[in-house]
Amino acid sequence: MSTMRFLLEHPIRARKVKEAAGSKCELCGKISNTDELEVHTFIDPGEEQEMPAEELECFLLVLCPQCHEDLHELPAGCEVQQMLVGQREDSIKRRIRAILGYIPSPYTPPDSDVEAAYKDACASKFGNLI
Ligand SMILES: [Zn+2]
Ligand SMILES: [Zn+2]
Repeated sequence: MSTMRFLLEHPIRARKVKEAAGSKCELCGKISNTDELEVHTFIDPGEEQEMPAEELECFLLVLCPQCHEDLHELPAGCEVQQMLVGQREDSIKRRIRAILGYIPSPYTPPDSDVEAAYKDACASKFGNLI
């Protein structure tokens, strides 16, 4: 199965990805109807097989048809698409990853909290030794 297992086979998911990107072209910024926007992907099919679905977020772009065509024509297309993904806002990244099948890891409290909890536990057990 290819990247498009999500995007082409599941039009609703493709639409959600476009909406997550703000329903606009990530290259020229033009706001468009999600039906008009296209999802461009750039990943080696072999690599893709071994990748968790949410990682595909780094290998797709939401583009208007004109920019999509241009990007394919552009000699520096590879660099441009990587730059665009690199500039993507974290909130958008998170949304797209969630759509692509992100399963959140179990909640781990910040280090400081763990330490405080540990100190509390020790203090109650051994007095104020630490
Ligand atoms: Zn565009
Ligand atoms: Zn494309």
